[in-house]
Amino acid sequence: MRKPTDECLLCRINAATKTNSHILPRFISTGFLGAKGTPRKGFLLNGKNELSVKPKTVQDSPKEDYILCDECEAYFSLLETASAPSLKFWQAKVMKGELKIVPIHPHLKLVHLNSPDPLIIRLLVYSMFWRADISSLESFEDYKLDPDLAESLRSNLLEFKALTNADLQAHMKAKQVTIHPYATMTAGAFKDETKNVLAAINPGNPASLLVDKFGFYIFKAEKDIAGNFMADFTNVKVSDNQIMVVSEQIWYDVMVKRPLEMAAEQAKKNLANPK
Ligand SMILES: [Zn+2]
Repeated sequence: MRKPTDECLLCRINAATKTNSHILPRFISTGFLGAKGTPRKGFLLNGKNELSVKPKTVQDSPKEDYILCDECEAYFSLLETASAPSLKFWQAKVMKGELKIVPIHPHLKLVHLNSPDPLIIRLLVYSMFWRADISSLESFEDYKLDPDLAESLRSNLLEFKALTNADLQAHMKAKQVTIHPYATMTAGAFKDETKNVLAAINPGNPASLLVDKFGFYIFKAEKDIAGNFMADFTNVKVSDNQIMVVSEQIWYDVMVKRPLEMAAEQAKKNLANPK
């Protein structure tokens, strides 16, 4: 168990006094629990719960004590606040004509976000993968990224650490980010919004995180995207800020059914080889 006197895992300077740090940003990770005012309950997959008679339900997205200091937590909040409107309301923006949606084929469209600065969303995505990596909560304890990638995410996040938007803007003008290509996937509609899940099952290359209505993929390096079906839709350049919008059916098959199967497979492996 971590203690409030332990070092913050991001800056490694201040004491990690913050409690209830969300591993996945709250603004995108709690929709699967159902509407506010109803009994909020969702499913969390981790390759362990899936074989139990009663799947583990959760009432909030996972949070952990004593991993961050107050400053680093505030920095992540800054990234989340700046990114939330675009990720939550991209559809409304498309309807108003503020964002372009480009059909690629019948099951895939691309949306180019116009805000916030692409680097802010990139840092937010880096932070989610890094947080999933460092978390020792049961849901994430087996989720370990390639150590070089994890350290690169940490050092890049730290390089841009800011406590105000003005400082963040100044860092973005002055500093260079290490590119780890990433892709974001969502759907235009969902069969059943509460059937979505949070899952951190595949820490490979690309590593993936399924956060309710969004799937995120990160590749270690640009050379790793060659041959991947997402190659053309991945955010490689610093200025890239696009999300893949797939059909309801593809979303269900790739993001709901497949993670459930993977989690069940992992659970069987865990059962066969207990730690
Ligand atoms: Zn810190």
